[in-house]
Amino acid sequence: MLRQPILLTPAEARILANCSLHYYFDQQTGVSSLDAAHVALDEAIREAVQALHAAGGPARLSLEQYLAGQADQLLLRPILERYYQRLAQDWRQMIAGNETLELKITIGGIPVLLRGIVDRLDKTSDGGILAVLFRTEPGPLPDAAELRQDQAMTMFHALVAANYPHKRPVRLQEAWLQLDQSVTIELSEEEYRQNLVQLREPIQALARGQVRARPGLHCELCPFKHRGCPVYAHEQNDEVDLASTPLEGKIPRRQWTFKI
Ligand code: SF4
Repeated sequence: MLRQPILLTPAEARILANCSLHYYFDQQTGVSSLDAAHVALDEAIREAVQALHAAGGPARLSLEQYLAGQADQLLLRPILERYYQRLAQDWRQMIAGNETLELKITIGGIPVLLRGIVDRLDKTSDGGILAVLFRTEPGPLPDAAELRQDQAMTMFHALVAANYPHKRPVRLQEAWLQLDQSVTIELSEEEYRQNLVQLREPIQALARGQVRARPGLHCELCPFKHRGCPVYAHEQNDEVDLASTPLEGKIPRRQWTFKI
């Protein structure tokens, strides 16, 4: 039985809730589901935005200085320019940027250490706090209902609520910088608890040293679908049988639980 707390980031919580075998593969290999070009764009955006925050915002750093060195970056420049204009309006509300938050909790009786980085924290006019989480992918933009059930957002809610206990309500915003659109949610107590329940079984199994393949639509985004996942092993060798039910795979369900 595992005795150390399970260290979990919000992104890992999302993966774990979907499929603990995917989570395990991630831990072992560090393979990213993002392509190299997007990883480079993501890093460039975050580096420039953090430099703008650290410099004291648009009042202290001119747009020309901020964009210096990005002249040949056709995709990056408009994203950074839009963020600069947005921050000029929001600067007075901003409390912190690139903030690492931690929280020790138990889920299903298992100790968990949550750790997440919030890209920006703003105070709101009603005494609350808004956690802004940058998304740098091209889309599609999620809808609010989708985000309300998202385990990563639930973990961010827990982190912000615990670290800023005097600021209520807690709101969470995904800011999709390429699309220049954002989605903001506020979780009710019931939604928060329901989402935590989804993590209980996979975390208890992890503590017992078990992971379980849980195929579903999320497999389409899993980098291990054809790189080690036994549920889809037959697809790498056999002719594709269009009449088969893909999510059932060719190994029996009872063999989808693995000892680690
Ligand atoms: S392909 Fe699906 S079942 Fe297999 S590890 Fe990835 S998410 Fe899990």
